[in-house]
Amino acid sequence: AKAEGRNRMVLYNESMGMELRARTSLEAELRLALERGEFEVHYQPRMAVRSRSILGAEALVRWRHPVHGLVGPDIFIPMSERLGLIGRLGMFVFEAAVRQQTEWAARGHDLQISVNLSPLQLADTHLVARMAAVLRRYGCEPSRIELEVTESMLLGNEERPIAVLKAIEALGMSIALDDFGTGYSNLAYLQRYPLHTLKIDKTFIQAPDVDRPLAEMIVSLCRLLKLNVVAEGVETSEQLAWVARREIAEYQGYHFSPPVPAPHFEALLEATPA
Ligand code: C2E
Ligand code: CA
Ligand code: CA
Ligand code: CA
Repeated sequence: AKAEGRNRMVLYNESMGMELRARTSLEAELRLALERGEFEVHYQPRMAVRSRSILGAEALVRWRHPVHGLVGPDIFIPMSERLGLIGRLGMFVFEAAVRQQTEWAARGHDLQISVNLSPLQLADTHLVARMAAVLRRYGCEPSRIELEVTESMLLGNEERPIAVLKAIEALGMSIALDDFGTGYSNLAYLQRYPLHTLKIDKTFIQAPDVDRPLAEMIVSLCRLLKLNVVAEGVETSEQLAWVARREIAEYQGYHFSPPVPAPHFEALLEATPA
């Protein structure tokens, strides 16, 4: 277990010997957690590097476990995928984000909110129709929602994820490639897929000097592709200065704020220049 930020979070690593017994009971509880209303969505600001204003937010799910406290997604997202629960959990997060978008927009903060998608959700033939229904129900402008996908969605069948991404784009939502630089697909996909944003993985932003050349190459690649670029994991002023020198327009990271509950996010909105 490890403490992180203002919201202490349990981060057992399954591979690092979480006891089988403990894991089995956690899985049983995970099946019930949705009905029990134990999931909550926190929001991390996405910032403009130049103006230091808040442009958007990434929705990140947490499990408020009655005994263990706040459990991190690195534990229960893989579990949810294995147990076939990710579809419902994913829609819960999507709906929360859409509701939050319209609520903040009504108060004059028309932010773009990003929602993470599991590769398994892209296999659901009803995904896009379900999302369209939620957007309509809340009267949310689709372009105000961005879906974050990773290259791992392309392992195996390529046709299906591409068709779904195209349907998402046709609906008017935008699409970000998350953890950019850490995947293994060939680079041709970057031009074939309807991507709007590249999120440079935090390992490049936090790279020690010896690994700088690789980070520079990733940034150059982003520039060539002419997509919107977000630097992830900016923790220090030095890292932010590095990002600014490379003319990367947007960043996320603990330097400004970790993911926080909605009321705390609203306090950040009030305290930050528009
Ligand atoms: P991700 O999508 O890459 O999200 C960014 C992670 O980096 C978040 O961890 C965030 O809290 C953390 N982070 C942000 N700024 C910094 C920083 O400056 N330094 C460091 N060291 N970390 C930073 P979190 O919330 O624990 O989420 C972990 C992963 O769980 C996410 O990685 C994402 O892959 C997954 N996840 C979270 N929520 C959802 C969800 O609703 N659906 C799905 N499918 N996956 C989710
Ligand atoms: Ca993400
Ligand atoms: Ca990421
Ligand atoms: Ca990740």
